[in-house]
Amino acid sequence: MVKVDLDHIYKQYANAEENDFAVSDFDLHIDDHEFIVFVGPSGCGKSTTLRMIAGLEDITKGDLKIGGKIMNDVAPKDRDIAMVFQNYALYPHMTVSDNMAFGLKLRKYEKDDIKKRVEEAAKILGLEDYLDRKPAALSGGQRQRVALGRAIVRDAPIFLMDEPLSNLDAKLRVTMRSEIAKLHQRLNTTTIYVTHDQTEAMTMADRIVVMSMGQVQQIGTPQEVYDTP
Ligand code: ADP
Ligand code: ADP
Repeated sequence: MVKVDLDHIYKQYANAEENDFAVSDFDLHIDDHEFIVFVGPSGCGKSTTLRMIAGLEDITKGDLKIGGKIMNDVAPKDRDIAMVFQNYALYPHMTVSDNMAFGLKLRKYEKDDIKKRVEEAAKILGLEDYLDRKPAALSGGQRQRVALGRAIVRDAPIFLMDEPLSNLDAKLRVTMRSEIAKLHQRLNTTTIYVTHDQTEAMTMADRIVVMSMGQVQQIGTPQEVYDTP
């Protein structure tokens, strides 16, 4: 059971003007296994919110709770969260296999366990034949799969994805959309997905959070958000 609660969360960056909040009063209660999509124009605070959940940005005010426990001061590596970034953030000098193993090594998983987890993830993502390659020798879609692989090896109950498909061409985006939806089902994760693409929001989300200028405008199912007359 992994509920994620964002209780009236605010973010003010250190260099901001006095009343300039990147995120204001973000209040959202996510159920176990929900697929939540944050949607809204560039600069509206989607990434900032996601990064606060990951622990990559401090929360200025409000509480983040995971499974009922306040997480504001817990280090990113201790949050049981896996994150996928827009630019994939792969290490160019490492093989696919080492890229996927990196977070596990950091967390001192046993060598055999690491091997097993990487092989399983590679199988799920169709990367078995690419484990010894460097990222530069992969297609865009394959790189995206490695980034997903790096996230799934840990079996983290929470997945955060920040515009993971925006560097892919239109055709591949459609394919990867359904692969990510399948991963969400198969791994039984709670997923929070950031995009500025309404089609992605509509096709993937259980619930959509519409943001504008740091504020939550609307929260609802795709139907509630996009079918309102
Ligand atoms: P989005 O993900 O929706 O594009 P962001 O969360 O990246 O929006 O940005 C929200 C606001 O916070 C923007 O006004 C942006 O300029 C500002 N911002 C983002 N990152 C920083 C930072 N590191 N320092 C100062 N301001 C930032
Ligand atoms: P896609 O059609 O998925 O975008 P590409 O046309 O980029 O893929 O690549 C087709 C195939 O060639 C893929 O299997 C990819 O792994 C391989 N490939 C692409 N670039 C290189 C490279 N520099 N060295 C070796 N193999 C490569």
